[in-house]
Amino acid sequence: MSATILVVEDEEASADIIREVLEAEDYQVVLAPTLFRARGALSKTAPDLIILDRRLPDGDGLDLCKEIKSKDEWKSVPILFLSARKTVGDKVKGLELGGDDYLAKPFDNSELVARVHSLLRQRGKVEKPAILQSGLLRMDLLQVQAFLNEKPLKLWPKEFELLRMLLERKNRVLSRAVLMESVWGYEKELEITSKTVDVTVSRLRKKLGDCGKLIEFVRGYGYRYTEPAP
Ligand code: CA
Repeated sequence: MSATILVVEDEEASADIIREVLEAEDYQVVLAPTLFRARGALSKTAPDLIILDRRLPDGDGLDLCKEIKSKDEWKSVPILFLSARKTVGDKVKGLELGGDDYLAKPFDNSELVARVHSLLRQRGKVEKPAILQSGLLRMDLLQVQAFLNEKPLKLWPKEFELLRMLLERKNRVLSRAVLMESVWGYEKELEITSKTVDVTVSRLRKKLGDCGKLIEFVRGYGYRYTEPAP
């Protein structure tokens, strides 16, 4: 079963994006727009991770963090703070009070996913492997390095993310919309279009040499990575 993540965030647009990004990673997401609702959700859902905003309509996320860390049944649940406050003081305060990590808004979707994976992995909550292997391709997700036939590949961050998405969901077609949301997400001001996906896939394919052919274009929909026969 996939991990459940409680997202305590009052800004709807931000909460929706976080949910889409995490659901694309196969996590179960429970949203709570207030501290009050978060307290209710905590007892009902037993989350594996909490993403906690600081400024909420009914108080500071830090207070909920203190409560969670003082209760035996909840204190092992990792907390990722989310906040527009990016001063070092706030960060230190959040971590001193028991937060496990801190992400300043606005953040990159791939950064969010990386932090979530890392926190869940530390707690042994994810079955998600740190290494993805398919044919001659190997991706080390902790070192953020891909290898082709054991030779390191020089991939740009978006190419790496795209390859990770495709390899994690091999033999499945991924729409350009899902790829755009998961790989580019927050950078909408850059006018990411389906063309951006096509161009990035085409660059990635070239870098993968013969393995590039394993990434197929599915007309009218998106892309699929097909695992080669052993
Ligand atoms: Ca807020």
